[in-house]
Amino acid sequence: MRILLPCLATLILNAQAPVPLGRMTVQPLVDGTLSLEASLLKDIPPAEAVGLLGGRKAASTPVNAFLVRMPGRTLLVDTGMGKDPDVDSGHLLTQLAAAGLKPDQVDMVLITHFHFDHVGGLLRPDGTRAFPRAKLCVSRTEHDQWTTKAGLPERLWDRIPKVKAIFAAYGKDVTLLGDGATPAEGVTALAAPGHTAGHMVFAFRSEGKELWCIGDLIHFGAVQFARPKTGIVYDLDGERAVASRLDFFRRAAAAQAVLAGAHLPKLVRIVPEGEGYRTVNVD
Ligand SMILES: [Zn+2]
Repeated sequence: MRILLPCLATLILNAQAPVPLGRMTVQPLVDGTLSLEASLLKDIPPAEAVGLLGGRKAASTPVNAFLVRMPGRTLLVDTGMGKDPDVDSGHLLTQLAAAGLKPDQVDMVLITHFHFDHVGGLLRPDGTRAFPRAKLCVSRTEHDQWTTKAGLPERLWDRIPKVKAIFAAYGKDVTLLGDGATPAEGVTALAAPGHTAGHMVFAFRSEGKELWCIGDLIHFGAVQFARPKTGIVYDLDGERAVASRLDFFRRAAAAQAVLAGAHLPKLVRIVPEGEGYRTVNVD
């Protein structure tokens, strides 16, 4: 295993090529990887889940941020985990550099929700801003929940100081978003509640092309596209998460939107098939 680690590091240093969509480009920046056990899935027979995972009981899952370049504007969706000594993580800024950008060239950071693997890269280890010039756009619902604790599970309370430190560091550059807000031209914030109360999807449009950064609307690509009613224990409100997933998948298929999931290994479009969808990779 120790011998393999340098190889993995080398792979991660190479950012994936940007994918053009109209006048914008999107590029996954892999901050790290997590192993997710199939037993985290709900409402699916375990044998069926393992079967859809090709016989594996766990899936090695990327933690993605997405670099979106639009005319005159550079945006980032989510920021990965930051450096965690226990897992392969904290590669976001290296990936950004491999894409030819310095942190102060990022104009806006959009956050799908406040779980640690999405906000972990907003601050440097010394507590200063990782993106010194960027506007920080987050769901108002998510912000209010994390700052008042209302409806926030007690198991997450110990993370509140970290979230408050983020808001303090970004200060006047924080913008709170409601459903349908347009933080920038060609970008719409859409409420997609369930995984968390304020979980959001960000829809980017350019010349008729659609890119939807869907955060944690889905964790197991090999299972939950084919069986979208399958939940995961991380969903705060399982029923709402399923309803959001079904709604966004139906609309994404109709719009032929490119889906960028925080834990999906590929950019994909989806096509209805059986009780769910099949994926078509977008390279
Ligand atoms: Zn996540």
